[in-house]
Amino acid sequence: MRTCDLHIHTSFSKDGESTVEEVLAQAARVGLDAVAITDHDTVEGARYALSLAGPVTVIPGVEVSTRQGHLIVLGVTDPIPPGMDFVQTVAVARGMGGVLILPHPYHQWRHGVALKVTSAISLVDAVESFNSRYITGSANRRAAREAYRADKPCVGGSDAHNGRYVGFGRTLVDTDGPDAASILAAIRAGKTRAEGHMTPLRTYTRQSLKGAVRRIKTRVRL
Ligand SMILES: [Zn+2]
Ligand SMILES: [Zn+2]
Repeated sequence: MRTCDLHIHTSFSKDGESTVEEVLAQAARVGLDAVAITDHDTVEGARYALSLAGPVTVIPGVEVSTRQGHLIVLGVTDPIPPGMDFVQTVAVARGMGGVLILPHPYHQWRHGVALKVTSAISLVDAVESFNSRYITGSANRRAAREAYRADKPCVGGSDAHNGRYVGFGRTLVDTDGPDAASILAAIRAGKTRAEGHMTPLRTYTRQSLKGAVRRIKTRVRL
């Protein structure tokens, strides 16, 4: 059994606060076997993470901004253009051999695709039924319910934008192989279980406030 956090942002994401090194160090500290580096619309963080040797397996990935919301693609190191239609993005990612995960599918404010594309879950390999950044658990529970209905594996991720939350969302993957390929094959085969605990509310409130403040270019002490 391998313990993995399949949804992590680094400073290669515009809103990521921790370096790849900090993320990997924290992953080792909290006992993860593997992490997926899934920066927004760039594979550079994942590529850089792959270049560093360490005790934690790196699964390269990207969280793609499609026209209808976010899609995580794992196992790819080539860029996928953002801004395409969700179904078209799925086709491109499939062509690259990626493992497709639908993150926070029912989150209103965080680009949940399943609210807009009813077939979204049927098009992916796995559903993120635990995302540690929800304010309430109801959207997570709905994701778990719909995944079960569609017979899709459930995975968990922290969606950490700061290294200290790495491991708050976890996927237990039933595989003996420690490498990324074995873990990805086991995810495809549905040998997963999602678990975790929530990121403290004040953290992402502070982060969204910071984003809002940046947008209106006003100096405010937070
Ligand atoms: Zn997202
Ligand atoms: Zn994310």
